[in-house]
This record gives sequence, structure tokens and C-alpha cells, in this order.
Amino acid sequence: MKKAKYIIKKMNAGLVKSCKKVSDVNVLSRIIMWIAIAMVVIAVGVVCFYKPARDAVFSTETHTVVSVKSGDTLSKLLGEQGFAMRDIDIISKNLKNDADFTTLRAGRDKIDFVRPNENAPISKIIIENGPWNKIEVDCGTPDTWQCQKIEIARDTRIAFKEGEIAQGSSFYLSAMDAGIPEGIILDVYDLLAFEMDFERDIRAGQKFYVLYEENFASDKKVDNGHILAVSFDALRGNVQMYRYVKPDGHSGYYDENGNGAIKSLKRTPINNAKITSKFSGSRKHPVLGYTRAHKGVDFRAPTGTPIPAAGSGRVIAKSFNRGHGNFVKIRHNGTFETLYAHMSKFAKGVNVGTVVRQGQIIGYAGSTGMSTGPHLHYEVIKNGVHVNPMTVKLPAIDNLDAANKKIFMEKKAQLDSTIKSLKDNPKQIVRLNDKEEKKSKK
Ligand SMILES: [Zn+2]
Repeated sequence: MKKAKYIIKKMNAGLVKSCKKVSDVNVLSRIIMWIAIAMVVIAVGVVCFYKPARDAVFSTETHTVVSVKSGDTLSKLLGEQGFAMRDIDIISKNLKNDADFTTLRAGRDKIDFVRPNENAPISKIIIENGPWNKIEVDCGTPDTWQCQKIEIARDTRIAFKEGEIAQGSSFYLSAMDAGIPEGIILDVYDLLAFEMDFERDIRAGQKFYVLYEENFASDKKVDNGHILAVSFDALRGNVQMYRYVKPDGHSGYYDENGNGAIKSLKRTPINNAKITSKFSGSRKHPVLGYTRAHKGVDFRAPTGTPIPAAGSGRVIAKSFNRGHGNFVKIRHNGTFETLYAHMSKFAKGVNVGTVVRQGQIIGYAGSTGMSTGPHLHYEVIKNGVHVNPMTVKLPAIDNLDAANKKIFMEKKAQLDSTIKSLKDNPKQIVRLNDKEEKKSKK
């Protein structure tokens, strides 16, 4: 439009000037040319200007949006919109066969009934059954209700938030203060579950940050995605984790060196040690002679064999009792504790309160206490209850092979530069453009 105004202005100036020498044929033809241009410009302007108004006038499509409530079924809602039983059957069948859809979720799903105009019958049903997809049921030709699953384009952006534990505060509250969404905070708890005890190992001044995905649809934030990187100044040192998607689509979290970062408990603290006695609700005790539960697993280990901590945590007991002999007990997080018995001696520097890493030597195998020979008696206690170390559900410990480690280090460098760039300029929009990463399995 600016351009049109400019041309018209120019044309007017031309007219004034040319009035002085109307007789000049060149000038006359120029005037005609200017008039022609002006008419074209006006015509274009009119089309541009009236287009939105015209759309508004001609679009009479009406939408009736129904939110699914408890007790609602598809048949019931279709019936309420005046659908005949026969159509309801066809629609249900097509939804099942073509869109793999069977049930509506109360409080979550919505159905949009579309009519071409107010008085026309419904021509389209849109089932909004998830943030990232919808199902369109189209009445193309009469009695044909074709279903189509439509994926909603996901615009994944990367957010960076950092914070510090405030005096007397918890990680949860400090993270909320830092603007980290609750779901992401809970994911951080899960990721760091075996790294630290969020109840006991939190101190004022500990710094943390999270780099995570935010999913947008048409510039509107819909939900949060994965954590891409997390860092926490834990008591035993800074813990860093990066998300990495392997070429096969499986993802995991790895430390700054590409080693599996999701710590867990090792079912067998001493590598390749043979089990000599299993966990059992009842067994004949080799020393006492009567039947009683064996609350742990025994591993064959000659006297002096180093005993590594099954997971990182804090030593909560280093003591001697008649049954366990010399033993060490470690609290790993709010859920798990492990106990190591019959030690010949304790490792230097391991005391009650010591924070230990997974694999750190805490003592040496022996036969102290009620024991018939040198071995490690290992117990896993979950929420105060002894569980079978060999079968209790634990996160898998996953390490990358050399080829994956190489790709991981490149991806890690990219994430580090994203962190730096968002730190320097928090308002910029950084998109996750790696399609493989978006499609990855959780
Ligand atoms: Zn035992």
C-alpha cells in the first residue's frame, strides 16, 4: 500500500507539471500511461484491502466444541449431536480401524463438530485427543466417515534455567525460584536419584542448572520435553549429565566424559564374584543351625578382597555386631541403603558421614561375625525393607561404545555452546532442529 501511495503521489505531481504543455504528444502518452498504472495500483489495492473482509463474509463454518466429561462415551456425544445409530457405528468402526482410536479421556479430550454453515448437517468431527495429534473424521460422500490421524507440528525450543540453593531452602523451592517447571524439577530428582540425597545432602550455595526442551505449537507453549543437560554442585563434586540419542534411537544420560551418568546400585558390588548364598525368606543358617531369613546375598571373596560401594551415597554406619561382624551401611538416596558385612577391615578415610562414589573401596572382605568363611554378605534395603539385590528394580547402568562416545562428545560440545549462548542472551529463541532427537524414544 505504501508503494501505491507513492506512485499516486508521483502521478499527481506529473499531472500538475504536464498541464503546462498538454499539446505535447509525448506528455499526453505519458499521462495515459500514468493513469493506466494508477488504475492497476488501485485495483491491486482494492483486492488486497478487501480480501480479509471477504473471507469473513463468506466463511460461515460453525464449530461446536464439546469437552469430554466423566461418563461420556463417543456414542453418547455423537447421539447428542443428532447422529443416527448407523452413522455412529460407522464412525466408531473407522476410528478404530483407521486411527487406532477407541476411548475418549474425560477431562482431557475435546470434540469439535464442524458444520459448513449454521443450518447444515455436521460435515466434520475433530477429536482433539492429545497435545500433538488430532483425528479428523470427514463426511466426504454421504455415509462415508473417513478418519485421518493428524500430527500437530511440534516446534521444540531450548530453555536454560540456573539457580542456587538458598539459605534454609530445599532444592525444590530453589529450583521453583529459578523458574524451572515442576515436571522438570521432578525429572532432575530422578536423574540424580543415585548421585545425591536431596533431603540430607543439600547445602546453601550449591549451584545448579538445567537445559531442557519446551514444545510449542503455533507459537504457544504446550508442554516441556526432555532435559538436555543438568548440572549440580553435589557434596562429592559437580555432577553433569547430558542427554544423548544413539543412532538406533535409544537415549540416555552421560557424564562429561561420555560414561553412563544414570547411577544405580550394582547388584554385584565385587565384579564377577560368585554367589554362594541367595536372598531368601527362609533358609537354614549355617552357624545358628536353624531356619531363618537370609536378608542379603553372599558372594565368594577371599580375605582382603576390596569391597566397592554399590552406588554413590553417604556412610551411615561403620560398626561391628555379632551377626554382621565389621560392616558398613550406605544411604544412597531417600529410597535405598546397602550394607556390606563380615569385613576383615575398613578402608581408610571411610567413616560415618563420608560421602562415597560408586565403586569407591569401603572395606575388605573377611569372615568376621557369624560367618563360616571369607565372603561378602551384601544387603539392599529399599524404604526400610530388605529386598533381593538380584531382582529389585533398578535403573540400568549404560555405557557408550567408542563410536557412540565420539558422536556424544560432539553433541555435548553443541549443548555446551547452547548453554553459553542462552546464558549470555536468555531471550533468544534456540530451536532443537535435530529431527532424530525429537523422534527418539524416551
Ligand atoms: Zn549372608
